Amino acid sequence: MGLLVVVVLLAVACHPSDNFTTSTGQLVHWQQNVPNSLERRITLVVPATLASDGSFMRGINSGMLQANRSPYVATVLHVPNGSQATCPTAPGTHCVRVFRAPMNGAVAYVGWSSTGHMFGAAARLGFDSAPWTAAVLANAVCHELFHALGLKHSSHGTPGPCQGGIATDWDLALVRNAHNHPDPLYTGTITTATSSGRRLTLRLVDHSTRAELALMAALPAG
Ligand SMILES: [Zn+2]
Ligand SMILES: [Zn+2]
Repeated sequence: MGLLVVVVLLAVACHPSDNFTTSTGQLVHWQQNVPNSLERRITLVVPATLASDGSFMRGINSGMLQANRSPYVATVLHVPNGSQATCPTAPGTHCVRVFRAPMNGAVAYVGWSSTGHMFGAAARLGFDSAPWTAAVLANAVCHELFHALGLKHSSHGTPGPCQGGIATDWDLALVRNAHNHPDPLYTGTITTATSSGRRLTLRLVDHSTRAELALMAALPAG
C-alpha cells in the first residue's frame, strides 16, 4: 500500500497538463458533432497563403497526427481559397482557424460555453511568422492544438501538453476524460463559443534558445 501511494503522488506531481474547467468544474470539450459516435470531427482551417509553405505545413500535419491518435478527435485540414481563414458553413462544423503573425511564439485562443462545450469556431491558433526549426514548430503545433482540445498547462510548471512534438499518454487521457460521453448533437452553423470561459493561452518560444515561457490570462467574453 505504501508503494502505491508513492507512485500515485509522483504521477500527480509530474503531470504536464490538465483539463480546462468551467467555474463549476465541468471539463472543457468539443460538443459531439458526429451522429452515433463520440469522435468529434474538427476542421483545421489554414489559409492558402500559409498552406503553400511546406515547412509550416509539415508542422501542422505533425500536430494533426498527434491529435488524431485520440479516438475522440478527428482533425481534418481545410484550405479555403485566398488569404482568409474561413470556416466551412456546413451545420455541425467544428472549426479551428490557424494564422501566422509576428509574436515570438505561438498562441491558442479557446472559448467554451457555461457547460464546458466548445462548438463552431471555438478555437484559433497563431504562430510566429519568423522561421521555426522543424522540431520546435512540431512541438508548438502539438501544444497549441491540444489547448484547442481543452487542455491547459499544469499547475506544476511543466511545459505540456506535448513533449518533443508528441502528445503524452497523459495528454491523451485528458482528452478522453473530457470527451468520453454523449452530448446533444451539435447541428448549429458556425459560431463562436464565448459565454463563460474564454481564455487566452500564450506560449512564448524564444527562437534562439528554445526557452519556453507559459502565460495565461483571462479575456473578456465576446
Ligand atoms: Zn459534452
Ligand atoms: Zn501553452
